[in-house]
Amino acid sequence: MAKEELECSFCGRKKPETNLLIAGLDAHICDRCIEQAHGIVIEESKQAGNSELSAELMLRKPKEIKEFLDEYIIGQEYTKRVMSVAVYNHYKRLLQPPSDDDIEIQKSNIIMVGQTGTGKTLMAKTVAKMLNVPLAIVDATVLTEAGYVGEDVESILTRLLQAADYNLEKAQRGIVFIDEIDKIARKSDNPSITRDVSGEGVQQALLKLLEGTVVNVPPKGGRKHPDQKIIEVHTEHILFIAGGAFDGIERVITKRLNMQAIGYSTVKDDTIDNDNILQYIIPKDLKDFGLIPEIIGRLPVLTHMDPLDANTLRAILTEPKNAIIKQYKKLFAMDEVEFTITEGALNYIVEKAIEYKLGARGLRSLCEEILTEAMFDLPGSGETKLHVTKAYAEDRLSKSTLKKLKAVS
Ligand code: ADP
Repeated sequence: MAKEELECSFCGRKKPETNLLIAGLDAHICDRCIEQAHGIVIEESKQAGNSELSAELMLRKPKEIKEFLDEYIIGQEYTKRVMSVAVYNHYKRLLQPPSDDDIEIQKSNIIMVGQTGTGKTLMAKTVAKMLNVPLAIVDATVLTEAGYVGEDVESILTRLLQAADYNLEKAQRGIVFIDEIDKIARKSDNPSITRDVSGEGVQQALLKLLEGTVVNVPPKGGRKHPDQKIIEVHTEHILFIAGGAFDGIERVITKRLNMQAIGYSTVKDDTIDNDNILQYIIPKDLKDFGLIPEIIGRLPVLTHMDPLDANTLRAILTEPKNAIIKQYKKLFAMDEVEFTITEGALNYIVEKAIEYKLGARGLRSLCEEILTEAMFDLPGSGETKLHVTKAYAEDRLSKSTLKKLKAVS
């Protein structure tokens, strides 16, 4: 074939009409066809990604999701069940094929109410781990309305993009955990908040994200800047999980329960479990606390965390898949030291965590205080065993250490 007759074997363009013509064994391809083919490859791999996700999710029914959560989280039975269903429905919604009926499955964003250290963050982390989707954990207290000092709500999505290694597809199916959502409650209903910027403005800004919309996100964070590249993030398929301690909400709940009792002129209700008032929470209580109704509407799955009792704390020390004591065993084993601890010592740690109101988070600090000296001394010492008894633990947790722990609690 004469040189001037060369043409693209796909579109038939002659060589002079192309910018580039690449020769294969028996055929040629032009720059435009390469670009088109590249587009097809990207589309195909997106679809393959979706079916990978669906295969993964279809394997896990709500019961199986709960079983996974059980491996990492002790107790919190109610929230684990609610979470399993909400997560299952969320990803079912995400995978639904386009249909011509008018039934649109709405998002099942979740709000968890419970004291600090009861496992809210752990719950979100475990769900993300199970689904193998990126997770961004953000603190609502740093968010401000646009124009104020602090972070815009868009920064939440910057975090998610970062967690997804800037893979937009992945980020758009990820999970955002918004911690301390109670701290952006309206001030008038919550005198403990002394920030200048009204929480309500932040709630309004958050609404947009929760609704499912397209948000322009500066990929590197910070304020939007005319020169910075902007990424469009669709929040429609992002699962939002909010958590907060809502200090004082028990009073709101109790008041409502008492009013109900009076309203129906019943005698005082003895069936109320005063040790766990949060279990009676309803969306109206969140409104009375200072969340705007629109936000409550966008977080339709409301659940509570149970307070951690001694048995739960004891189990947290040793039972979860990556329980604290298992972690220390592993650390010592790396120095060829066999670490054992008696039941008495474990109970002592639980007792102190309760006494100093340190909750589950305190278990870790207490263990650290007890074991630091051994972790310093044993490596390289030739010792092959560390046996921690109650007396050993008591000795290490000197009074001054406990004072220190009390100060931070
Ligand atoms: P929250 O977000 O409610 O303040 P976290 O999830 O951060 O609490 O929990 C604090 C620590 O306590 C974490 O290290 C977590 O592993 C542990 N923890 C809390 N609750 C549980 C639980 N129910 N089961 C297992 N570990 C828990």
